[in-house]
Amino acid sequence: MKNYNIAIDGPAGAGKSTIAKNIAQKLQFIYVDTGAMYRAMALFMLRQAIVTEDAGAVSRACNSVNIIIEYIGGEQQVILNGENVTALIRTEQIGKLASAVAKHNAVRTKMVELQKNIAASSNVIMDGRDIGTIVLPDADLKVYLTASTKERALRRFKELDGKGIFCNVKEIEQDIINRDRQDMTRETSPLKQAEDAVLVDSSNMTIDEVIDKIISLFKEKYNGDLL
Ligand code: C5P
Repeated sequence: MKNYNIAIDGPAGAGKSTIAKNIAQKLQFIYVDTGAMYRAMALFMLRQAIVTEDAGAVSRACNSVNIIIEYIGGEQQVILNGENVTALIRTEQIGKLASAVAKHNAVRTKMVELQKNIAASSNVIMDGRDIGTIVLPDADLKVYLTASTKERALRRFKELDGKGIFCNVKEIEQDIINRDRQDMTRETSPLKQAEDAVLVDSSNMTIDEVIDKIISLFKEKYNGDLL
């Protein structure tokens, strides 16, 4: 039987994971958060005190890294060398470091292989930066989800503020701009919209509106086959 794949790419803070997770529940697909894999890799480099600019050291370190994705109660867990690191990788520091680590060929080769294998055996909705372009070039639906940097910064500010974490919206916006630049200008698999991806700008949309839009795009194509 055919597996269905949905690819969601876009810049930092566009709401990809919230939206993809929700759609996965509605369509009963597996949600794969590929950013979490790069974050786990970054945590490993940080713990080993590996300088992320040192391509040779990063490449050698990759040989000692084993990342596995598991699901507990439908929630993705990232297992780094046998340790569940899911709760340790959501910080801004690890996000920035993940972007620095993700530009290296050795890291991407390892992650892409793992991601392709997961998608080969299940219906998945996968989010990241290179899903529509590199990981799942034949995905059944590709979405490039974005929003203005101002709006993305404001959303992240509200999220952190709601958790009682002190932060500054201007600094968050600058971090977002820097991370986008790093992800969009790297040589290997830069973030870009796949030619056949549908652009969804969520600046003036609610989360529910974005979810409905993507589900209806999918249903337009595959309603008869799957749903
Ligand atoms: O999406 P998230 O913020 O968790 O991703 C962290 C970093 O991992 C991104 O800034 C990007 O550099 C990298 N990444 C990537 N390719 C992916 C997913 C994430 O390069 N498919």
